[in-house]
Amino acid sequence: MSHVMNTYMRQPVAFVRGQGCRLYDAAGREYLDALAGLAVNTLGHNHPRLVRALSEQIGRLLHHSNLFQAPLQESAADRIAEITGLDEVFFCNSGLEANECAIKIARRYGHERGVAEPAIVVMERAFHGRSLATLSAGGSRKVQAGFEPLVQGFVRVPLNDLEAVRQVAARNRNVVAVFVEPIQGEGGIHPARLDYLRGLREICDANEWLLMCDEVQCGLGRTGRWFVYQHAEVRPEVVTIAKGLAGGVPAGACVAGGRARGVLKPGSHGSTFGGNPLAMTGVITTIDVIREEGLLENAVRVGDAIREGLRAALATTAGVVEVRGMGMMIGVELDRPCGELVGRALEAGLVVNVTAERVIRILPPLVLSEAEGREVVERLVPLVRAFLAGARPQTSAAA
Ligand code: PLP
Repeated sequence: MSHVMNTYMRQPVAFVRGQGCRLYDAAGREYLDALAGLAVNTLGHNHPRLVRALSEQIGRLLHHSNLFQAPLQESAADRIAEITGLDEVFFCNSGLEANECAIKIARRYGHERGVAEPAIVVMERAFHGRSLATLSAGGSRKVQAGFEPLVQGFVRVPLNDLEAVRQVAARNRNVVAVFVEPIQGEGGIHPARLDYLRGLREICDANEWLLMCDEVQCGLGRTGRWFVYQHAEVRPEVVTIAKGLAGGVPAGACVAGGRARGVLKPGSHGSTFGGNPLAMTGVITTIDVIREEGLLENAVRVGDAIREGLRAALATTAGVVEVRGMGMMIGVELDRPCGELVGRALEAGLVVNVTAERVIRILPPLVLSEAEGREVVERLVPLVRAFLAGARPQTSAAA
């Protein structure tokens, strides 16, 4: 019997090594990684800069707690302030923790303004994590089921519907913030329209609400800008980041500016591991390498080529609803549940994922080359066609 708690549906493959965008199992079989550990391995596997920096830090100092000065946090926070355009960073270890911090900022901001029961506008189909507050903020009944009573104080509206938010503003005096994933990831790669994000900014300004963006999955360069809100040329008060932030070392950040700056004070929030020297070395190196290797440009070039390639190849395939996304955050929606494609792709040497039951999700490392991008398309297309035709695929591109 396995002593690991049975909370995941795992594929029957164990990776033991990675190099660039390739993963290897114990038998030495090679897989092309088009998932990056769910948007985590920003720099691919075994990136020499990251390996060297982390190894040196492990040999120097692994942990010192937040009771003392933290110069590596200062360096990492300077970089995050620069790329977000915001002012102050709370470091934690995961996406849900970054979002808990955002929710606490919104509530505290509300209390400072005399709102006794502050509420936050959240979106249908959203995913913000699996703690009680973040699953309550999310829009999936499946994620919430069995964990009631839910945390109160969330008002749910459909994504991309400004009128719904305006109606909440007119009716509900307790609202203090809007919380949105600029591209919904777990929900099925659904982008917020850029004019919708601009409209949210206007509504938040008119009501002195906080605009809070969960960029845990879509942020940090994946769409060709550091953050999706930058495509809309708006600046939120709060941004949450995690996943790819430290290239594979657990790290999260809740970043605040404008009206949200200074809301949390000494004693109002904390984390034992948050901002740990190893994680901060990961953050600093990841951001520096993204800049120095031109990975924002690469995400657009290669990501667009993958989307175009998939669109062209699947244009006449019945059962393909849409190929969508931005940069290296790509979803292929089919007209039927397609979870079994994940296993078939593994058999063909390709790592992808299926979310929202019928959306194939592609989130490669930002270092994926153009040739590897073509390989993703060449491996995936026959699998999708065969699946939709109800047949087992004939091709196996595995090494
Ligand atoms: N927010 C978004 C948009 C996510 O996609 C996720 C994870 O998939 C989370 C939050 C939760 O992050 P974590 O699993 O690190 O807690």
